[in-house]
Amino acid sequence: MKNNLIILGAPGSGKGTQALKLVKDYGYKHLSTGDLLRSEIAKGSDLGKKVSGIISAGNLVDDLTVLELLKANCNLGQTAYIFDGFPRNYEQAQMLEKSLLSDVKNYKAVYFEINLDSLVERVVNRRTCKNCGEIYNTKTKPAKNEVDCQACGGSGTVVQRKDDTLEVVSNRLNIFKDTIGPMLNYYESKGLLVKLDASKDEKALFEDLKSAIE
Ligand code: AMP
Repeated sequence: MKNNLIILGAPGSGKGTQALKLVKDYGYKHLSTGDLLRSEIAKGSDLGKKVSGIISAGNLVDDLTVLELLKANCNLGQTAYIFDGFPRNYEQAQMLEKSLLSDVKNYKAVYFEINLDSLVERVVNRRTCKNCGEIYNTKTKPAKNEVDCQACGGSGTVVQRKDDTLEVVSNRLNIFKDTIGPMLNYYESKGLLVKLDASKDEKALFEDLKSAIE
């Protein structure tokens, strides 16, 4: 079976876009904790109400809440998973290892390395389909009529995430800067870390990613 994958990288480094490509070409299951949390907000669940303000401000939801949500949506063993957006700090990396990956030894952590200064514009220009998760960019990959999704045919479904605004993105990048180092050390010390140059274009990065997982 294919390795389970943990994708690490800053907001806008291309994790979601590349994960969708792996799902299409290799049949991975994509687990994005950001998507799971946003879907709770869309449903108006208690959990959604609890996390809505935290996410809009670009802060992290508490570790246990996200872990429980992840566990409830994950059934390891049958299919290879992509963990996108979890772990977000060293504590979550340990939680993931202990509670989900302890029996599943076949996994790798892939880090999308990129200069953070280049990301603000990418994130601010990002648009996302609220139906299928397809990711667009107003400059480099615009949606049809700006708001219609070519991937799922959704009409008016392509929107800007509330936390993809200029005000919020710098907070998200600062949190990333503060938390990424210990996670990289953790996976490197286990011999599980692969670093990819995420400044490459979408296609070239996908080629590197395919080589990394094979
Ligand atoms: P993302 O879609 O991965 O950019 O996540 C969007 C937002 O969801 C983050 O800025 C956090 O507020 C929250 N979030 C997603 N994953 C996690 C996580 N593993 N731990 C804490 N908060 C998270």
